[in-house]
Amino acid sequence: MNIAIDGPAGAGKSTIAKKVAKELGSIYVDTGAMYRAMALFLIDNKIDPHDENRISSKCREADITIAYQDGVQRVYLNGTDVTDHLRTEDVGNMASVASANEALRAKLVELQQKLAASTPVVMDGRDIGTVVLPHAELKIYLTASAHVRALRRYNELLEKEDRDGGLPDLARIEADIISRDERDMNRAVSPLKKADDAVLIDSSDMTIEEVTAQIVQLARQEGQNA
Ligand code: C5P
Repeated sequence: MNIAIDGPAGAGKSTIAKKVAKELGSIYVDTGAMYRAMALFLIDNKIDPHDENRISSKCREADITIAYQDGVQRVYLNGTDVTDHLRTEDVGNMASVASANEALRAKLVELQQKLAASTPVVMDGRDIGTVVLPHAELKIYLTASAHVRALRRYNELLEKEDRDGGLPDLARIEADIISRDERDMNRAVSPLKKADDAVLIDSSDMTIEEVTAQIVQLARQEGQNA
């Protein structure tokens, strides 16, 4: 069974998708990490994120692959493991802008579809239920209010030990989340939207465990009906 989980940044997709995959014995595929690896490549090559032609031709030189180490996804960019360099704000912002590029998306969608064809996956992203796996047996659209998502990110940053001094800026984090939502939802190619047959879960007032349990239950029901 393939499960597609889409939704905006900070809704808890990756944490929950990982847990669901573990419970069901599937592989978790984080597609955001692939867009981030591509963004890292563009940053390293000093490509302007708004230069569509340059991105379309340059992305052909980036070979992105994934492998699993103790069940954890590792992302390789031209043979180098870049997993630990992907979760910065700079890389996230570049990914959010550059992911509007059609050629770049086509390349990553092909990789994602190949993965899902070879093994049962829980895949999270923005266009999994609508474009990558339109025939997934279960589709979830996971969201939460922008304020709750910003608070979660704020708390995550507070816990980081390598924070240089001061407190994170909650208002700025929320503004960033809102502008990233706007870019993801309004781009011409594969915008973030709920697939018609996706189950909507608003996690604003739910714990990670509650959301995980709901998705696992839906997956088991789906398995019984199949
Ligand atoms: O989920 P994450 O924040 O790691 O994704 C980084 C960016 O990659 C997102 O803001 C989004 O623009 C893009 N993305 C996408 N399609 C996906 C996954 C991520 O466009 N399937």
